[in-house]
Amino acid sequence: MNRFEEFTTRFVQQMGKKEGPISPIMVNSASFGYGSSETGEGIFEGSVKKPLYARVGNPTSAQLEEILASMDGGIGAVVASSGMGATAMATLSLLRSGDEIISIGGLFGGTYSYFSETLTRFGIRTHFFDVDEFEKIEESINTATKILFLESVGNPNMRLPDIAKIAQIANRHGVALMVDNTCTPLSIAPLALGADIIVYSTTKIITGNASSLGGAVVYRAISEWDDKFKGDRYRDLHPFIYKMGAMALIAVAKKRAMRDLGMSANGFGSYLTMLGLETLPLRLDRIVTTVEKVAKALHEKGFVVNHPCLPHHPHHKRYLNNFAKGCGTLMGIDMGSKEAAFAFLNRSKLITITANIGDSRTLGLHMASTIYRDFDDETKSFLGITPGLVRISIGLENAEAIIDDFVNAAKI
Ligand SMILES: *Cc1c(COP(=O)(O)O)cnc(C)c1O
Repeated sequence: MNRFEEFTTRFVQQMGKKEGPISPIMVNSASFGYGSSETGEGIFEGSVKKPLYARVGNPTSAQLEEILASMDGGIGAVVASSGMGATAMATLSLLRSGDEIISIGGLFGGTYSYFSETLTRFGIRTHFFDVDEFEKIEESINTATKILFLESVGNPNMRLPDIAKIAQIANRHGVALMVDNTCTPLSIAPLALGADIIVYSTTKIITGNASSLGGAVVYRAISEWDDKFKGDRYRDLHPFIYKMGAMALIAVAKKRAMRDLGMSANGFGSYLTMLGLETLPLRLDRIVTTVEKVAKALHEKGFVVNHPCLPHHPHHKRYLNNFAKGCGTLMGIDMGSKEAAFAFLNRSKLITITANIGDSRTLGLHMASTIYRDFDDETKSFLGITPGLVRISIGLENAEAIIDDFVNAAKI
């Protein structure tokens, strides 16, 4: 069965109870009474499974974590206050000063500045490569390399990685592969392709209606036998593997990031995220079809469209072979200049001009004047940011209505 169909059934069944409240139970308390000192001791020791304090876990968030882990076939997940919070959690719980990251493709502006500006201040260096620079990627791996980081779809450059091939490189050298799968939940299953850790901004298509900022990290189990995380490269993780076995990556994320840094999700946010997640398969299934219709129609009408469903796109074949369920809600339109891009966005009646993506509504933004305004020309060119680039995130509107609106908005 295709994954959209499979999860249409699974999500609605996982979300609601058969008895009592059908909507997920929303617990929004910051702290929890233990009842007795003995129970309190047991909770801190780990022998009693009850809520300790909301920074280290919340029952509503725990339900969301369980559902997201099952979506990706992970052993568990940890939800976070935002997508950047999730990326910070997933990376900082594994890194120490002197380590290196290899970042491939993309890249979302926030992640780029986190790697290039913030982590460098703490002695962590990131090397950036295009998705197809396989040899350079492999050559740059050394003993300090802790993470290969990859976006499932270049946002906004729309370049597509060969995830399985990059996973083989990571495995050959015993390095963790972390995939930002924000744009392609359900469409792409990174753990099945050989990745180890998945990060999401749930703010985007997973919630899908701008009601809640959130993020999540999904982890695979540590194997009982041979496992790259048992290698010398990950010696900081070894005490967690010794104590927690298969769950070591979850434990280190909770202790070294969530508890110590506090990028925790809240119950209300997780509740809203579950309401969105329940309809994710339906929304994404519709949108990936609409994206193709709109991209092809606009291309025929003379727009400069960047989407891999178009035959001239350098990753068109990869799109057909490896992205059977589409590559999310995004496409690029190059209007030629900042002035033309502004005029197009301002004249459109459908587009909501905003920095978000993956919403029920069609969203659009001029890239060079907003998210990428502080980046130098070399970086902009690496990330595919041209002066006239408008990033579009297609919504649930009718495809013909979107095409008509775009054509009208582009008329001078
Ligand atoms: C939005 C986004 C993020 C960051 O998520 P926030 O929830 O805004 O913190 C990370 N990666 C990608 C691909 C995104 O689109």
